[in-house]
Amino acid sequence: MFAILKKLKEARLKEKSLISPEPEAPLKIVLCFPNRYSVAMANLGFQWVYKLFNEIPEVYCDRAFYPDPEEELIYFQKNLPIYSLESRKPLNQFDIVAFSLSFEMDYVRALKMLNFSRIPLRAEIRKKGLDKKHSYPLVMAGGIAISANPEPMADFFDIMVIGEAEPVIEPMIERIMERKDKSLDNLNLIFEDLEGIYIPSAYQYQYDEQGRIKARSAISPAPEQVLRVQAHTHQLPAYQVIFTPEMEFPELGLIELARGCKRACRFCLAGYFTRPFRSASYPKVIQAIEKLLSYRSQLGLISAVISDWEGFPALLDYLERERIPFSVSSLRIEAVNQKLLELLKKSNNKTITFAPETGSKALQRYINKEVNFSKIAQVMKMVGAYQFEKVKLYYLLGLPGEDELAVEEIPISARRIQTALQMGAGKKRYPGIVEITLSPFVPKPWTAFQWLKMADEKELMEKIKRIKVQLKPGQGFEIKSDSIREAIFQGVIARGDRNLSNWLEKLALNQISLSQLLKNQALITQYLRERDPEEIFPWDIVDPRVKREYLWKEFNKAKQGKITPPCRENCKECGAC
Ligand code: SF4
Repeated sequence: MFAILKKLKEARLKEKSLISPEPEAPLKIVLCFPNRYSVAMANLGFQWVYKLFNEIPEVYCDRAFYPDPEEELIYFQKNLPIYSLESRKPLNQFDIVAFSLSFEMDYVRALKMLNFSRIPLRAEIRKKGLDKKHSYPLVMAGGIAISANPEPMADFFDIMVIGEAEPVIEPMIERIMERKDKSLDNLNLIFEDLEGIYIPSAYQYQYDEQGRIKARSAISPAPEQVLRVQAHTHQLPAYQVIFTPEMEFPELGLIELARGCKRACRFCLAGYFTRPFRSASYPKVIQAIEKLLSYRSQLGLISAVISDWEGFPALLDYLERERIPFSVSSLRIEAVNQKLLELLKKSNNKTITFAPETGSKALQRYINKEVNFSKIAQVMKMVGAYQFEKVKLYYLLGLPGEDELAVEEIPISARRIQTALQMGAGKKRYPGIVEITLSPFVPKPWTAFQWLKMADEKELMEKIKRIKVQLKPGQGFEIKSDSIREAIFQGVIARGDRNLSNWLEKLALNQISLSQLLKNQALITQYLRERDPEEIFPWDIVDPRVKREYLWKEFNKAKQGKITPPCRENCKECGAC
């Protein structure tokens, strides 16, 4: 235990922070990220929520993380609780334990954090414990994955935040502070009229003999659906507030230029679930950059498509004039120009990342991400001319209608890209690597593809194998593939319901392994199957602002190969504006 506390102390000492938490504040919150410290600290959403909590005068917000992989066993063997980073207290000594859950794969680790900390996993058990004068913290969660479909984790949390944190954190804390009755029975009454707050215990479900939802009803006063809340433009931009050499990309100061996405990629949860596109104001971005530059010499610019932010040309001029190096996470091919590449090269970026998703023209239209090859070739020639050391390409595998030819088109597209890079490099020849990542397509809730069946393990493995034999490392390619088993588990959870809670609990308590769970074919089929057009989905408890009819229309347009243009002025089409 002493070694763990010492490690936390050392990590804290290496941090520089724009935030001064108030340890004497009456309400003690620990914000938990169910992954290792270095990953958590590179997550801008996590850092920003930490800032939002600590801005409330009545709140002291600390942080906690999942142990590093090599330490996990020690926690189990020695029965150690998770300690917070700053006050180094076990999680069960806080008033609120709040989880940031942006990835389905983090759910089990979140439950393990509760279990390590002697907090009963199930909200119902904690409720009974409170009656007997045990004192358990309120356990809550937020983040895009849990907001889109809170149901697989509904039995574990007292409160869930649906949507973005900015508009809801303060009124939520106000109501928690004001409540006289500390039992967990009345939470639905306290939050009944507060948008974005979901109290799972206020609802019950009925299922048919096939395990599909027959009906959902509120067992005590609660809204029919929980409206997704979203930040106003004046609450943007979010930017990094804690700086440490121990985080991933330690050289970068992170800033989000815009929230949401104008494009309408039909597979993308973030694209639909963060609509509409909202820009941060240019002067506020510059102010935030000035703060970041006191701690970092390079910026990490974050946005779904950075060039869609209207201030981007002016920002490029500013960064060039002030000689501020920067990086971007991924580039949209049609948004690349000479100046952007030149500045990225001057900023000492070694890698450029694109996500073509597919090599097939028909599938490009299916997913609504169409780029013609002459544009790709033109951009890759420019990239080759700048001699970036690596070009990363992301492709999806297992899209519907992906026949043998469409699979073959991935290596064909990668080779054409490599040829264009070499042409661009001219006499110097392109010396770099083309790295290809193959990711299984996972149908997500609140996308146009929420009705689709997910491809099975065998099909995905065969496709990956076929591509791997065609692109050899000796030819300048590196091929990576996401874990198929993890993708399948992700697929199960993404469109899961409350019946998964027993399985998630068993995984968290190490009573079964992921491999054992994935052998349960009936369970896998139940959740990865094609959905009926009118079926009641577990995630229907959420009102995402984007209408279901719009998504259905988009699904049909996909089947017809019809393109939907990006968001535009005076549009009311999807319901989000
Ligand atoms: S209403 Fe139109 S502009 Fe607004 S998010 Fe939807 S598609 Fe985009």
